[in-house]
Amino acid sequence: MVRAAEAALADHHYVSALDIFVGMGLLAPAHVRDWRNGRIPYLERVIQGNLHKISRSMHAFRVWARGRGLKPRETAYLAGVRGPRRDLRFSKSGEPGIEQAYRTHFVSPELSARKQERLQARLSAPPEIVVFSTLRDSRCSQCHAELLHGSFLLVENGEPLCLTCADLDHLVYVPRGDPALSRRARKHSTLFAVVVQFSRTRKRYERQGILVEEAALEKAQEECLSDAPLRAYRRERDALRRSGEDEAPVERLAGKIRELFPACPPGEGKAIAVHTAARGSGRVGCSAAGRALDDAAVTLAVVAFIRHRHTRYDELRMRGTDRAWARQQVQPRIEEMLDTWRRSPESAVSTRPPARM
Ligand SMILES: [Zn+2]
Repeated sequence: MVRAAEAALADHHYVSALDIFVGMGLLAPAHVRDWRNGRIPYLERVIQGNLHKISRSMHAFRVWARGRGLKPRETAYLAGVRGPRRDLRFSKSGEPGIEQAYRTHFVSPELSARKQERLQARLSAPPEIVVFSTLRDSRCSQCHAELLHGSFLLVENGEPLCLTCADLDHLVYVPRGDPALSRRARKHSTLFAVVVQFSRTRKRYERQGILVEEAALEKAQEECLSDAPLRAYRRERDALRRSGEDEAPVERLAGKIRELFPACPPGEGKAIAVHTAARGSGRVGCSAAGRALDDAAVTLAVVAFIRHRHTRYDELRMRGTDRAWARQQVQPRIEEMLDTWRRSPESAVSTRPPARM
């Protein structure tokens, strides 16, 4: 027990009950993974040895930690599963005292207060949304769009989804390489995802960058600019803007949105049109359906906009909630807004969108 604990402490400056049982060879890392993904109802089920032996080890662990002068820190363990956010369960009994003992990490007092705080935040964070940059051509399992080598996809229940079907196509990509920009963009974004790619040489997934909201990226760029007048940022951003300046499709789309949703505030209608028509591939504006200004495709773009802009959807996703459940939660609000926007402006009481639910 002591050897396992010391090794964990030397490696990451804290020791958890998981470290102890894995280190003692009583718990397989594969079982920990399954448990975190909700495939095992409680952890004690896959720890070798009877409950009596397990609780003796836990006791010895606490005595050792106290003797070592380590600081107890209760940590949240969140399940990476579908449905609302939920805490993982450790014990067969589920008794609060026992659960708390399992959740408690012992942290090295040598770590600075700031580092302890950061460690705590990292350990308690819900699982991140991970987007894969593909090495092979693939196909979206929902809309069947072709996903060429290098495009981004989300894997859900083992199936690839394009970013549009994954409700992530409103995000923009920030490649790694500018830590200050990435950190700020991430901080300002309600929803963000991490982009990884498999390295064949290193045989593991490596971070390529992040996907953040466009407004968050702009804000981060402004902040970086005010730090130091890096003209490169401005050039890059302006080039990005110019590339999306094909006015005709934007105007056509904006017109179509006005026709279908007369009470949609003009500013928002324009934002949807710009977003939909101007950039990226795979969005309705660029697809054949979008060029034909198919009503259903335009409505989908409006729905996606409402979902991200006027509901708690992105927040729910960031709290580790699964996509289907989060969508279901915000569906009534979306319907309500669509109805409001469909009415003619004269009959609408107010064109101001209702507050977020
Ligand atoms: Zn798709």
